[in-house]
Amino acid sequence: MEYYKAPVKDMMYMLKAFQYTERVHSLEAFEGFDLSMVESLLQSAADIAVNETLPLNRLGDEHGIKWDPETYEVTTPPGFKEAYQKLIDNGLVGMTCDPNYGGSGGPEVLGVLFSELSTATNKSFSMCPGLTRGLIDALAAHGTEEQKQKYMTKLISGEWTGTMCLTEPQCGTDLGLINTKAVPQEDGTYKLTGTKIWITFGDHDMAENIIHLVLARLPDAPEGIKGISAFIVPKFIDGERNAVNCTGLEHKMGIKASPTCVIDFEDATGYLVGTPHKGMRSMFVMMNAARLHVGVEGIGLAEIAYQTALAFAKDRRQSRSLDPEKSDANAPADNILVHPDVRRMLLNIKSTNEALRALAVWISVEYDIAHHHPDEEARQKADDIVAILTPIIKSYGSERSFLNISEAMQVCGGAGYTTDWNIEQYLRDERIAMIYEGTNHIQALDLVGRKLPKDGGRMVRAFSEVITDMIRAGKENEELAEFTDYLKELSKKLTSVTMELAGQAMADREVAGAVASHYLNLFALTALTYVWCVQVKYAIESDAPNKDTKLKTARYFMHKVFPEHETLVRQINTWKSNLMEFDVEEL
Ligand SMILES: Cc1cc2nc3c(=O)[nH]c(=O)nc-3n(C[C@H](O)[C@H](O)[C@H](O)COP(=O)(O)OP(=O)(O)OC[C@H]3O[C@@H](n4cnc5c(N)ncnc54)[C@H](O)[C@@H]3O)c2cc1C
Repeated sequence: MEYYKAPVKDMMYMLKAFQYTERVHSLEAFEGFDLSMVESLLQSAADIAVNETLPLNRLGDEHGIKWDPETYEVTTPPGFKEAYQKLIDNGLVGMTCDPNYGGSGGPEVLGVLFSELSTATNKSFSMCPGLTRGLIDALAAHGTEEQKQKYMTKLISGEWTGTMCLTEPQCGTDLGLINTKAVPQEDGTYKLTGTKIWITFGDHDMAENIIHLVLARLPDAPEGIKGISAFIVPKFIDGERNAVNCTGLEHKMGIKASPTCVIDFEDATGYLVGTPHKGMRSMFVMMNAARLHVGVEGIGLAEIAYQTALAFAKDRRQSRSLDPEKSDANAPADNILVHPDVRRMLLNIKSTNEALRALAVWISVEYDIAHHHPDEEARQKADDIVAILTPIIKSYGSERSFLNISEAMQVCGGAGYTTDWNIEQYLRDERIAMIYEGTNHIQALDLVGRKLPKDGGRMVRAFSEVITDMIRAGKENEELAEFTDYLKELSKKLTSVTMELAGQAMADREVAGAVASHYLNLFALTALTYVWCVQVKYAIESDAPNKDTKLKTARYFMHKVFPEHETLVRQINTWKSNLMEFDVEEL
């Protein structure tokens, strides 16, 4: 049983709270996308999600993907192909892409909200357009004009789809170990040979061609990560089959309707993207976009799990209220919403999931500014905020969402664990988000090792400035101050921990590895506290109809989630502890 009402209202609330009209619609590129247009686009995406992809969700999970060992062809579950065509017909695939190549030129913030709707209703299905979008971004940044004309236009129209081929049996996180070879040919093309594993939508029947972005080594490549180049390798070239085959499918815990393929390249024809040996640049464009969307996947799945748990809780009667006055004497038992613990679980989900949605909106508003603002300084500042918050939403977002879905399951008791209410599928589908697109710990290392020290701490300063502005706003408004006081306390702690960590990590690099994941979560809680202040500020200033509920939810967050930072600070302050003192035999 699936319960889902698309949270378009809350999405619109977030857009207003983050000043969409003033900050995004005011940019020349988005003058056609005012708030009412955005609302109607969100509503039509929501209709497709609810009416077309949600009914295929359980079916896809049960039916799975079929692979033919004779032809190597992959078949998606019944209805997937038609649903994909619906996305194309409604212009959803290229909604946020460059109009010069057939896109509609919508803002990224709209794309991110689309992502939430599509993953909530069918995560497996949503991965195909998601990866395609990543390839479009990579080509936009590093492709030649000819490549853009040839590939981007077809990817944007939805006729072709894209993949990201990094992983090989011996190399996951450490891409310096890539073995796939690319040999230059006289006609300027390359012949690629190697095996990639776990390639999402590496083969399928939903589109007429599949374009792989493949990492490989040229014969003269330097060792390691500095010797990786990126190539476009199409499944079909001018209608002819290229030497790219899906030679197997993985069996896995969740996203069972998303093909996870072994892809063999045997002298397959490919085309270089960008500069030789600099392939990681193209791949990083693709991965950065994907990391934001991976964080958003969890928001969607936690939302549908929350709505399901709430529907269950409203109906279920067990035991008596601890407060006799709240007991229903006419029934043999009370509704479980009388139990404080059931409310605790529901409010944990609601208060963190709305905060994560706000965080996603904030990051994508900054993304739009970073790409389209006329002023270079404004672009840089926005880009810094996107860069520092991307590992946070990917890692904290996926971890918290998994916990949230698990709490939703707990609300439903045994009914949550059985298949009837579908929460077990959401939990299985979400788990991979902590692993792919760089494991969560790799996000933490990215934050601590790259983003914090980069350009003398410029990114973290951009973040701190925004926090300081909010604390200042709290000084002028007593109602807001109740919430900004929390922000003030936490941002002070974050600053002091950040400075100490920099010193400790300089003296011993293992310290950074030992506490990076705790530090990322501390940073995330600061960001979540900030986005709650943004929501509260908007509620107060606009006297929004849902003001009371927003303030109550923010207050719950400050009382019950915010204190988690104290544990993190203590964990960080023990640095390496005795982690590295255990002999391997003792582990
Ligand atoms: C369903 C699914 C879909 C996928 N889709 C794609 C796809 O489309 N394209 C693609 O190329 N790949 C894809 N992948 C691969 C995915 O990106 C990798 O699984 C991921 O990058 C992690 O690599 P790994 O699994 O080899 O883990 P490993 O790299 O072996 O890591 C194992 C553990 O060691 C830790 N670790 C590794 N290095 C370090 C370090 N330096 N410091 C601290 N800890 C470290 C990791 O955090 C992890 O906990 C997919 C995987 C799955 C399961």
